[in-house]
Amino acid sequence: MTLIPFDDRDGWIWLDGSLIPWRDAKLHVLSHGLHYASAVFEGERAYGGNIFRLSDHSRRLVESGRILRFEIPYSIEAIDEACRQVLAANDLAEGYVRPIAWRGSEQLAVSATGTSVHLAIAAWPWPSYFGGARMQGIRVAQAEWRRPPPDCAPVKAKAAGLYMIGSLAKVKAEAEGYADALMLDWRGLVSETTGANIFLVIDGELHTPDPDAFLDGITRRSVISLAKRNQMKVVERQIQPSDLARATEVFLTGTAAEVTAVREIGPHTYTPGRMTETLMQAYDDLVLQSPETVASMIG
Ligand code: PMP
Repeated sequence: MTLIPFDDRDGWIWLDGSLIPWRDAKLHVLSHGLHYASAVFEGERAYGGNIFRLSDHSRRLVESGRILRFEIPYSIEAIDEACRQVLAANDLAEGYVRPIAWRGSEQLAVSATGTSVHLAIAAWPWPSYFGGARMQGIRVAQAEWRRPPPDCAPVKAKAAGLYMIGSLAKVKAEAEGYADALMLDWRGLVSETTGANIFLVIDGELHTPDPDAFLDGITRRSVISLAKRNQMKVVERQIQPSDLARATEVFLTGTAAEVTAVREIGPHTYTPGRMTETLMQAYDDLVLQSPETVASMIG
């Protein structure tokens, strides 16, 4: 696979209020966001020209900034509109959209007082996060890094800093031939993978961890609604690693991952089955609906 570098592409990036040529969207190396991880971002997907649950993503972006004690200088409506503009400027009907906000370079110290807040939005084609393995199931390693407790990190923010441990776990998993890694939280409970939430089918019911120390994904919430609409029983609870042995099906959810089946976690193997298939199909159908229909279906 030839990788096209992200800093050397044709196209347009929205930066601080205007669309500029892709290659010109640069920031200074002495930016606070780069040195101290004062950055928050989003990951969105467009289907048929519509960004799925766009305002929910823009709202989470603004909220993530507030958790990191900074205010993104645009309204949710303005961010929504900028995301649509980026998609159109790059001539994309399907694709991934990445807004990111960070503190600038007025000061370079742990202190962030007085720094300006910037916002950039890019979009690019991204067919499937896990390639063609969505229904066959991916192999997931067990990460040695744990999710921190809520009083040790801003766990509810989609904050760049939190991806340091996720990225470490993912790089190791890939080096060992796995597609992703499952992270436990500080208590040793199952939490999520490095970029997606997790669901287990146990005794015909859908079980998923309480999102008390990790991102309560927009896809996770959509899939819970779809499961309920399909008369499935959904149980949100603390999940022990021993529950992995009781599950018959396991799948991941996330904007990039969509609904992706898992066929292995450490010593446990699973066969993607009817519930995974039903929800994958229901999610694939949902994302193609108009924003109004999506809102009426999942609230
Ligand atoms: N957890 C992590 C760590 C993630 O990066 C993501 C992807 N944003 C998710 C969960 C799933 O969130 P969403 O469904 O909102 O994309």
